[in-house]
Formats: sequence, C-alpha cells, structure tokens
Amino acid sequence: MTTHDTTWMRGAACAARPELPWLTDTTNLSAWDAETMRTVCDSCPVLLDCLAAVDDLDVTGGWWAGQDRDPHAAPAPAAPAWVPARTRRHGLVALQGTLNLGGLGVLGGAA
Ligand code: SF4
Repeated sequence: MTTHDTTWMRGAACAARPELPWLTDTTNLSAWDAETMRTVCDSCPVLLDCLAAVDDLDVTGGWWAGQDRDPHAAPAPAAPAWVPARTRRHGLVALQGTLNLGGLGVLGGAA
C-alpha cells in the first residue's frame, strides 16, 4: 500500500468552510453552493497540491480543486444571475443576491 503525503491539506481553504457540501451528490447541489465552492478553490493556497492529489489518488467523487470529481455527475450548476427585486407595482427596488468574497458572506441589497 502506498502512503501519500497529506501535509498540504493543512492549508486547505475548504477546511474553513465545513458548511458547504464538499462531498454531496451534485443532484443536490445548488448553483450558489457550486459557485461558492469554485470561489473557495480558486483562492485556495494549496490548489495545485489538491489537483495533483486528484490525479495521484484517482479521485472519483466529491468536490476537489474546483469541480465535482464524479465522472458520472451532471455538470455543476452555473452561477445564478442577479435577479432584480420588484414591488407589487413592478417597480425596480434593488438588486438582491449573496456574494461570497473570500469567505465573507456579503448581502447585496438596498438601493
Ligand atoms: S482546492 Fe478546493 S477542494 Fe482542494 S484543498 Fe483547496 S479548497 Fe479544498
């Protein structure tokens, strides 16, 4: 049995985001979760180590290095578009949505 160096995992950005569905079947994955995990991976300091591990370990499940690694999974949902909020009279009030900026949840809001 081959052992693999896993010390790089100490720098894994996903460790600070346990609320995200890193190991969830993509049929249950929301577009926001997929986009947030992509964002976390994009800024992860050990992204290249993670990608190397995916290849070395022949990973076939879970979200690793920016994408779902299940070869049979449907494509992860694309990022949702911003949706304008409207009043009962259909007047534009504000843009609503949630941005994730480096792990900080920022609520988009009032005009
Ligand atoms: S690249 Fe993504 S999945 Fe890999 S360690 Fe970093 S945050 Fe976790």
